[in-house]
Amino acid sequence: MKPKDELSRTLKRIDRKGYKAYKDIAGVYDFGGYILAVDHVQGDPFAAPSRLCVITPRSASRFSPDLFSNRIRLTAAADFLTRSFARAAKQIVRGNRGIGKSGMVGVDRPGQEVLPRNSCVIGEDSIQVRFVAGLPAAGRTILGNEAQAMLFEEIPHIVEASLRAGSVDAGAFREHVDAVEDQEALRERLDDMGLVAFVGDGSILPRRSGVDDRPLTRDAVPFQSPESLRVSVDLPHRGTVSGMGVPRGVTLIVGGGFHGKSTLLTALERGVYPHVPGDGRELVATAPGAVKIRAEDGRYIERVNISPFITNLPHGRDTGAFSTDNASGSTSQAANIIESLEMGAKTLLIDEDTSATNFMIRDERMQELISKEKEPITPFVDKVKKLHRDHGVSTVLVMGGSGDYFDVADTVIAMDTYLPRDVSDRAAEIAGRHAAVRTDEGGEDFGEITRRTPVPDCFDPSRGRRDVKIDAKGLHKILYGTDDIDLSGMSQLIDESQTRAIGAIIHQYATRYATRGLTLADGVREVYRDMEEKGLDDLVPYRTGNLAKPRIYEVAGAINRMRTLSVK
Ligand code: ADP
Ligand code: MG
Repeated sequence: MKPKDELSRTLKRIDRKGYKAYKDIAGVYDFGGYILAVDHVQGDPFAAPSRLCVITPRSASRFSPDLFSNRIRLTAAADFLTRSFARAAKQIVRGNRGIGKSGMVGVDRPGQEVLPRNSCVIGEDSIQVRFVAGLPAAGRTILGNEAQAMLFEEIPHIVEASLRAGSVDAGAFREHVDAVEDQEALRERLDDMGLVAFVGDGSILPRRSGVDDRPLTRDAVPFQSPESLRVSVDLPHRGTVSGMGVPRGVTLIVGGGFHGKSTLLTALERGVYPHVPGDGRELVATAPGAVKIRAEDGRYIERVNISPFITNLPHGRDTGAFSTDNASGSTSQAANIIESLEMGAKTLLIDEDTSATNFMIRDERMQELISKEKEPITPFVDKVKKLHRDHGVSTVLVMGGSGDYFDVADTVIAMDTYLPRDVSDRAAEIAGRHAAVRTDEGGEDFGEITRRTPVPDCFDPSRGRRDVKIDAKGLHKILYGTDDIDLSGMSQLIDESQTRAIGAIIHQYATRYATRGLTLADGVREVYRDMEEKGLDDLVPYRTGNLAKPRIYEVAGAINRMRTLSVK
């Protein structure tokens, strides 16, 4: 480690020199209360910004140790400090110190959910925050004084404002950590209570807009559980809370258009993650194995056994190992379900708004006109109950358009002006009166879930002269070598840092486990075992701060959508 004066001297020496001379500042410097590591220096002012890290002793930050006392509290605390650092940087950093990205300071920016991420790493004795900075230049000439101002004025200021107990709101910090721990406790309790989800009374589910995930503030109707579905849970910090329990089995969400059905389902999708205090969904918890399923026509499918849903395709195409470059609505939805089941999903979340109609229903008139032999699709309505009975997989389904599901539903929730009512008995009674006019086409069983084993050589991360080139392009796209993976069908992928991590996880899976003849599910689980042990930092060979933990379902989802994927 070098004294900070040395950094200052280097900046004076390279001032006005060509940009490449910035490479000389790489190193680790003692700034008194913290260490500044310049891990990677960008090659030119327009390249990806330089990677830096501040490391402060926990003793210097003086935060109360109980904020860090277990794994989930550490995740929450790291999330809080990342936000704290980002907020301080926004206030303090002047930016615009020359051409290109000169003067910018960037740190990962979490959304409404709290995810394990490596932007802030809290160790036994230290706290690290990783960030990027644009080293200032005019043209390709180093602006040493501007860099001096960033590294000797702005960064120390940010550290002081965001990583010191004296300047951080202690109450807000504790509330954040306690809230996340409560949410994890709530999620863990679901299984014992026989539930797949819980929606707390008073929750605010609607969002500000389709592009703004913060809570709707004006005229939001707070959630209120119907008495018959009400349950209470004791949480470690908040104490007893009440809300609606969504039981295992088949649950329908019905109700008129615009009455809040999809909003409830979206909250359940996101309920697999904890939320920040003030989000409105702090008491919405969904079982970790819940996967949103939608139709996704055009996607690639590689040898998926979709025969539980689809058989007898024209020209005798094999649906026991179905492949296509261009799936239809129904085949894509069938593949999305089977692939999730392969990974061990225990709850499916489905919205009619994003489903293929012919996959969901087939009424008695259509059954009469088009005979079963001419229709390859067995509609989901004839499989959903068997899926629960045979494989223990529950479904929560928004279905305002067809009463055919009354026959198979265990619970029916009607949304009425944004408030839920339990109409299970009434729906059962109606189903009884209109006794089965349609024929169940689903056969005796759900059918087999076939686990697939990818062929190792189909994973090629090389591009141009690089042996490994994997990039996330926004939330929904990974460039893996020359393969362009489209992830826009996976709504539970919520953070670009997760997307980036998925790219790296695929590479680890491909290099470490695909060669061992494991099924996709087992291979991906092995990578997660490594990650539990070594953390997200193990995913890439250098220090970064822009990875967040994805779920196994989204990792497998990305592999399944690789157009180069090939399975045995
Ligand atoms: P549906 O799926 O039943 O047609 P949506 O869930 O899409 O209805 O909701 C329709 C509109 O109502 C959306 O703009 C949504 O933001 C709003 N909304 C949903 N829930 C609430 C609520 N609890 N309070 C106020 N507005 C809500
Ligand atoms: Mg809807």
